[in-house]
Order: sequence, then structure tokens, then C-alpha cells
Amino acid sequence: MFSSVRSRLTLWYATVLTCTLLLLSLVIYWIVKQSVLARMDASLVELSDSFLATLEAELNDAPAAEGISSAARQSMLEHQYPGHSFAVLTAKGDLLAGSSELPSAVPEKHADPNPEISPAALQTCLATLSTPSKPFRNLRASRGGARCYARTFSAAGNSYQLVILASLHPESELLENIRIALGWLIPFTVLLASAGGYFLARKSLAPVADMTARADRIGESTIHDRLPIQNPQDELGRLATTFNRLLDRLDLAFERQRRFIADASHELRTPVAILMGESEVALSKESRSTAEYRESLSILHHEARRLSRVVDDMFTLSRADAGQYPVTPREFYLDELAADCVQSLRSLAAAKSISLSIQSPAEIPLVADESLLRRMLLNLLDNAIKYTPTGGTVTVAISQSSDAAEISVADNGPGIPPEFQSRVFERFFRADQARTRTNSGSGAGLGLSIAKWIAEAHHGTLQLSRSDATGSIFTARIPRNP
Ligand code: ADP
Repeated sequence: MFSSVRSRLTLWYATVLTCTLLLLSLVIYWIVKQSVLARMDASLVELSDSFLATLEAELNDAPAAEGISSAARQSMLEHQYPGHSFAVLTAKGDLLAGSSELPSAVPEKHADPNPEISPAALQTCLATLSTPSKPFRNLRASRGGARCYARTFSAAGNSYQLVILASLHPESELLENIRIALGWLIPFTVLLASAGGYFLARKSLAPVADMTARADRIGESTIHDRLPIQNPQDELGRLATTFNRLLDRLDLAFERQRRFIADASHELRTPVAILMGESEVALSKESRSTAEYRESLSILHHEARRLSRVVDDMFTLSRADAGQYPVTPREFYLDELAADCVQSLRSLAAAKSISLSIQSPAEIPLVADESLLRRMLLNLLDNAIKYTPTGGTVTVAISQSSDAAEISVADNGPGIPPEFQSRVFERFFRADQARTRTNSGSGAGLGLSIAKWIAEAHHGTLQLSRSDATGSIFTARIPRNP
């Protein structure tokens, strides 16, 4: 039932509101009760003053010892208020006069009942005299109970006690009304606020439901769809924007994947077609000369090697994409590695009468994956030799700074046309498709992609620093401590 956010929000909201209202009601109820009692206490003190003043006046008229009872009764007759009872007692606690014995001047129908002057009530009231800090006390009785007040007074040289009891009926009725009102008001307010809260939560979370339904429908074929953004500034708008950005990245990754597969199959089709064609030609005649068979086999071998190279490069890139290609750094000398690479390609350069040289000012120790850096440098050198015409020059230069080592491979070939320079690191990209496809030495357009990945796997960079009619320079920068 509370699995949805809006139900949980409403429940939380209702709980907090109920607690707040309950606390508020308790405080208000307590304050009202205290102020009602304080007002009553003040009026009891005032009443006792007035009663004693009347009593004194009556005593002055009849100053005999027994006269206290009749003076008290006279004073009670003059102080007949609805819901009030008086009692005058001796210092020992014997009742001299009580208002309940007198005829009441207050009409009974509307009046609050006068509290009963029972011995128990008198005892409780007189007990307050021993605790002057609490001179008032509540008495349990029917119709709201009563409040009592006791004080001592002297008359004609003797000490007496006055007890006044006031009915709490109107006050308890007022408090009862407040309790009933709050008892209805709190559940009603909580219910109304919960319904409103639920409605608001539903309204403000409606875009989430919409987004969920839309996101559910997005699949491989509908990856171009995007979530609607109503207000880009609010939380839901930001969530939708972030989700859309994620879809953009996925879309791009899908697109790259699709292109990679399309390019790869296109790239593999050519050598496979050559393999099939050449083998069919070789097998078409019953018998051929050894030289003819050797030539066919050599073509087949060449294409098979090319195929294997492309498959190997593709495998490297797909492992790199999945983050599964191991990079194992160790310390070695970059100048030695470069000299090694130059040495291994010397015969290839010599076949095109290309002068291959290396400029390495000093020993350059480096912590990196040696075999990967070798592969990167061989790819760059292989390209430089491949695209430089006969008789050209290729130079490898190595240098170092405090935080990185730099390797650059420069040639004086034809350069890369400006419009293609930004794309040379793309997978399967070849600046001159026609030229390179017919060129038996050309690769599949993966060499620079792999070289760039190697530099980046070492937190470095590989850039085409310059390329024009005078030649090209590729520069790799590898941090010394990756
Ligand atoms: P390929 O296997 O075709 O050499 P690369 O990824 O190594 O693939 O290179 C991509 C393209 O960049 C090449 O086809 C070529 O057109 C261009 N290129 C790379 N290096 C050079 C260079 N040194 N001189 C001229 N063009 C180059």
C-alpha cells in the first residue's frame, strides 16, 4: 500500500501534522485551563474579602459570642451567587454556619448547582491552610466538581475559619467544549490535509510516471527518443536532462558500435573476397605450373596476413573499449625502445630508400607499458614510411620535461589534407580510401586509433602536431608517473 512515493509522502505528512496539532492542542488546552482557574481563584479571594467585610459589619451590630453564627448567616444571605457555598467554622473545625442551610435566592433552573458542604469537603478545604503556597484545591463532585478556598479570620477576639466552595460546572463545560471541538477538528484537519497532500504529491509526481512510461518504451530502435522536460530548473527537469544526456551518450556509443561493425565487415569483406577469388582461380584448372600455384599461394598468404592483422587490431580495440586490455607499467629506457623500433623498421625504410634517423639527446627512463609503447611507435613509424614517397626522410625525436616524455615522428611525405586532419584518429578512417585500398601495404585505418588509445591509457596524448605539403609530425606525450 505504501510502495509509492506519494503514499509515503502523504503518510509522513499526516503523521507530522497529527503530532503538531496534538501538541498545539495540548498546550492551548493547558493554557486555557490554567487561566480559567487563575480567574476563579482571584474571584474567590475577592469574594472572601467582601464576605468578611460584611461579617465584620454584622458583628458590630450584634457583638455577642453566639452572634457570630447569625452574623455569618446574614453575610451568606447577602452573598448568594449561583454555584457558590460558604461555611464558617470554629478554629477547631466545628461548623457554625453553612450556606446550604439557608434558603437560596438564586433561581434553581438556570443556576449552577451549589457545591455540597459535606464534612469530607470541609476537611479537604481546611487542609489547604497547612500549605499556604497552595491555598486552592479542586474537589471531585458531580457536574464538573468544585474549587475550594479556606482562610482564617478573627472576630471578637476569637479565631475562625471561612471556607468558600465554587462550582466548576461552567469551566468544566467550557473545557469539555474545547475538548470536543479539538476531537473533531484534529482528525478532520488531518484528513483534509492528507487528501490535499496526496493530491499535490500525485500532481507533482505525475511527470515522473510519464517519464517512467516513456523511458520504458525507449529501446535500441527508439534510442533517439528523449524524455520531455517541462521545467529544466526543478528537480524533475534536472533528472530528465541528466537522463537525456545519458541517452545521448548511449546513442553515441550505439552509433559508434554500429559504425564499427559496419566498417569492420566492410574491411573484412575485401581480403575474404580476394581469398575466395584467388583460390577459385587456382582450383579452376585441373593442373597448373608450380610457379602459378606459388603465386596464388603467396597472394593467399598475403591476404590472410592482412586479415589476421585487421582482426588482431579490432580485437585490441574491443578489449580496450571494454577496459579489459591489461596495461602493465614497468621501468625502461624510452631511448632504447625507440632505437629498437627504428632498427626493426630499417629494412622496410631501406626498401623505399627512405632515410630513417633518431634524435635522442639523453637516456630517458620511463615507467609505462613497454610493449604497448612499442606498438604505438611502430604504428607511427609504419605510417610515416608507408605514406612517404621513395627517397624521403623519417625522423624520430625523443625529449623529456620534468613531468613527461615526448616522442615525435616526422616525415616529409605529402601530408594529410586539412579537411581530414581532425578525423585521422577515427576508427577505419583513411584519408585516401581509393589510394590506400589498392595499396597492398595499407592497413584498415585502425593503426592511429590504437596508437591514440595507448597514449590515453597512460594518461597521455597523441596529436597530429603538423601536417602540410612538407610532411607530417605526430607527437605523443606520456606522463613520467602515470
Ligand atoms: P592505416 O592503417 O590506413 O595506416 P591509420 O589509422 O594508421 O590507418 O591512419 C589513418 C589514415 O591517416 C591513413 O589511412 C592515412 O590516410 C593517414 N595518415 C596516417 N599517417 C600518415 C602520415 N604519416 N602521412 C600521411 N598520411 C597519414
